[in-house]
Amino acid sequence: MSAEAWTETDREAMALALAEAGKAAAAGEVPVGAVLVSAAGEIIGRGRNRREARQDVTAHAELEALREASESAGSWRLDGSRLYVTLEPCHMCAAACRQARVAEIIFATRDPKTGALVSADRLYERPPHFHDPLLREGLEREAASRQLRDFFAALRRRNRRLARQGFSRGVLRDARISGELDRHADVDDDKDNDGSGRH
Ligand SMILES: [Zn+2]
Repeated sequence: MSAEAWTETDREAMALALAEAGKAAAAGEVPVGAVLVSAAGEIIGRGRNRREARQDVTAHAELEALREASESAGSWRLDGSRLYVTLEPCHMCAAACRQARVAEIIFATRDPKTGALVSADRLYERPPHFHDPLLREGLEREAASRQLRDFFAALRRRNRRLARQGFSRGVLRDARISGELDRHADVDDDKDNDGSGRH
């Protein structure tokens, strides 16, 4: 997608999603941020990854944004809305977006391991076809990738420091988010994330 395809609204919404991801990183969470924009162009939900803080597997940025929007709208139906998210959604979030009738998902960078839209799966290309959101990707790809790379690099440095100080692998595993290092290893230094694999 060429750069001029993005509107001002697109850019503003993704900038806010990146800011949410930055807050997640500052809190020691994997940096993922999301913003939901209504059909009328208003921001109706924001979210960031808080899985560790809440010890809640559903505390993904996308679901937090959907939850806030549904609370303010008084409805689980969010017809015509657009979700801006810094990382390709997982199956859970992709399914929730479809059920909430989100019209379009715009994501910044791919998640090669758990991305359910174009990477690990193409969920919306399989039945049941039920309010399948449209997809666009690549807006602020570099910034979102850098956030993730920087986060995991800092995590690796911290774990090496702890290892030098004599902490065992078991202790490292217990450290709040050390397990994410393995799961997101190829998001961390993803060499394929250059936009060549456009859907
Ligand atoms: Zn998710």
